[in-house]
Order: sequence, then structure tokens, then C-alpha cells
Amino acid sequence: MPQDIEKSRARSRRYYYTHREVFREKSRRFRKRHPNRSTKYYHINKIKALTKIAGGKIQCIACGCDDLNILEINHKNGGGTKEHWGQYLGDQGKFYRDIIKGVRTVEDLNIKCRVCNTLDYLERKYGKLPYKKIVWGVNQ
Ligand SMILES: [Zn+2]
Repeated sequence: MPQDIEKSRARSRRYYYTHREVFREKSRRFRKRHPNRSTKYYHINKIKALTKIAGGKIQCIACGCDDLNILEINHKNGGGTKEHWGQYLGDQGKFYRDIIKGVRTVEDLNIKCRVCNTLDYLERKYGKLPYKKIVWGVNQ
């Protein structure tokens, strides 16, 4: 059975790649007909999902940044890209909705800002880098 799911996902990815202009055009038309609609619910669900993961104040666990525009969900053990290109392909909002509903557990997730999340990714890929800590508000 799991092989069937993997085959199905692979087929979905191929279909998306070969038809991505059609998907993009549909999205463009939807956004034109319903300005702010999808982004509004996407944003609301992002806040709900982040709140559930944080269990309190929504902020980057590494540097304390609390700007919602640059906060992301980090997969502690990696695998985020695989998950997003697998079951959540074409519907990233479903990731947030599954977290809210409890379908997707959050023990392996935490919140990091874009900068800290990228550093986390790079260190996982290349090993420890010579950066000690991301500090906001210091411009030298
Ligand atoms: Zn950070």
C-alpha cells in the first residue's frame, strides 16, 4: 500500500510539472476574482498553526524574532522539503489546516525565522558554520 501512495505522489508531481502553467493560470484567475481571499485564510491558518506549535508566544526559537512575515515552521530533523513536495504539493495551506486539526502532529516541528531556518538547513547540509547567533537590530 505505501508503494501505491508513493507512486501516486510521483504521478501527481509529474502531472503538476507538465501542467504547471495551467495551475498558475487558474491561480491567477482565482486571485483576480477573489482578491485577498486565499491570502486572508492562509494567513489566519498560519497564525493558528504557529500558535499550536509554539504553545505560547509565536517567535523564532533561536533569535526571538516575532515578525509573522518571516516566521516559518522548521522540521527539527529535516525532511520539510520532502513533506512539502509530497503530500502537500499544490496545497501548502493544507499543512497548516492539518496541524490545526491535529492530523499532522507537531512534536518534530518548531518555529524559526527565515534566516535561522536557512542557517539550520545549511548546517544540516554542510556541517557547523562559523555563525554564532543571529541578532536583529544590529547593523554594522
Ligand atoms: Zn531567528
